[in-house]
Amino acid sequence: NFSIRVDAMAKDEIGSLAAAINDLAVELQRYRDTRSEFFANISHELRTPITYLEGYAKVIKEGLYASEEEKNQYLGIIQKESQRMGRLIYDLFELSKMEAGKFDLDLEWVDLVEIMENLVRNTSLQAKEKGLDIQLNIGHELPLIFGDGLRMEQIFMNLLTNAIRYTNKGKIVIDLQRVADRHVLVSMEDTGIGIPQEELKHIFERFYRVEKSRSRQYGGTGLGLAIVKQLVELHGGQIQVHSQSGTGTRFEVRFPIESEKERRKS
Ligand code: ADP
Repeated sequence: NFSIRVDAMAKDEIGSLAAAINDLAVELQRYRDTRSEFFANISHELRTPITYLEGYAKVIKEGLYASEEEKNQYLGIIQKESQRMGRLIYDLFELSKMEAGKFDLDLEWVDLVEIMENLVRNTSLQAKEKGLDIQLNIGHELPLIFGDGLRMEQIFMNLLTNAIRYTNKGKIVIDLQRVADRHVLVSMEDTGIGIPQEELKHIFERFYRVEKSRSRQYGGTGLGLAIVKQLVELHGGQIQVHSQSGTGTRFEVRFPIESEKERRKS
């Protein structure tokens, strides 16, 4: 535990210095708490798939299955859990680079319309399997955005797969529009299970899930939105979420238009 506390009642510089040190101590303690919580989360997240891998590998090695079909089912679980673990480690690595400021964007002029059209095409099968419709509305005079095309694709891929994952019926509407000369707004709205009001402020935190077992069952790592937020902010943008339990969720991403740069595109 952290135990620096400076008691000073004076209303002068010493008094404010003491107050500043106390604030710093509180901040440092908070940092230590989140750091140890973060490590506890990582070990939990890694321990779970490893338990599955060990268990099912043992069952197969010792021939404790009733049929070839059952054996294949276990092998399938081993494969799925290994993939999950691989993704988790990759995501953690990316996130740690972003948070340490050691993450380079490959900047170029990016056409968001092209990105969104590709994404919709690539996820249409997945959506169709769930009976979901994906609509893409493209506004007028959309400028190119100076950003990293692959990373922008990753941002929207993450949001779109979440929207599909957490929606059981209805549709997903993606809207691209220009808001004056200030920014391009991409909103993605689903008619899914939604997120309870009191949980909204946490969903961009690492490993935060609205419902742990539910997210695992859907194959998530709990890092997707933390990465999305970092990537949006690295582009000078902002992300917001609005949601209502049982009705649906809307994510809004804004990227700045820099007129100087925009002029240079033509
Ligand atoms: P996960 O990999 O678990 O999906 P994310 O960081 O991508 O992790 O999302 C965090 C949590 O936010 C999810 O576990 C889920 O509970 C909730 N969530 C994200 N997107 C949606 C959505 N479109 N609809 C409902 N809940 C969502």
